[in-house]
Amino acid sequence: MPTFVHTDKCDGCKGGEVTACMYICPNDLMKLDVDGSLTGHPMRAFNQEPEQCWECQCCVKACPQQAIEVRAFADWVPMGGAAIPLRTDNAIMWTIKFRDGEVKRFKFPVRTTPVGSIDPYGNKPEPGDLNDQKLFTEADKELPRIQS
Ligand code: SF4
Ligand code: SF4
Repeated sequence: MPTFVHTDKCDGCKGGEVTACMYICPNDLMKLDVDGSLTGHPMRAFNQEPEQCWECQCCVKACPQQAIEVRAFADWVPMGGAAIPLRTDNAIMWTIKFRDGEVKRFKFPVRTTPVGSIDPYGNKPEPGDLNDQKLFTEADKELPRIQS
């Protein structure tokens, strides 16, 4: 089921023109209600097209206020419960709230290297001849050349 915003937690990303949820949604679904005319809550975000939401959780994880929630299916969240993420640079912690009030937390590392330290082309060969059929990482393979 699609996302919804807890209006008591959302702060409109402190007045930024493009909020974190607007920036991250791959389907362009999140919208900031600047004057409150659409939701009754000025400077609060909302999902403007819930039926198009595929519950990818990107906005849920990106929201700095933990204001977005997906009413999840029972195959990964206990029925009637909630799963709320909290991200840091190195880890994500999921808080699972069961409908009887029980709370459990699970923390997972999300990276093994310091932020900003990855060299995406490290240890890769230099780009070669664009007319051969080798992939970028197949510099040593013998493949027939494309006839032009
Ligand atoms: S869950 Fe994914 S598709 Fe749905 S509103 Fe959030 S970012 Fe967009
Ligand atoms: S990312 Fe969170 S705090 Fe920012 S506008 Fe969206 S719901 Fe509100």
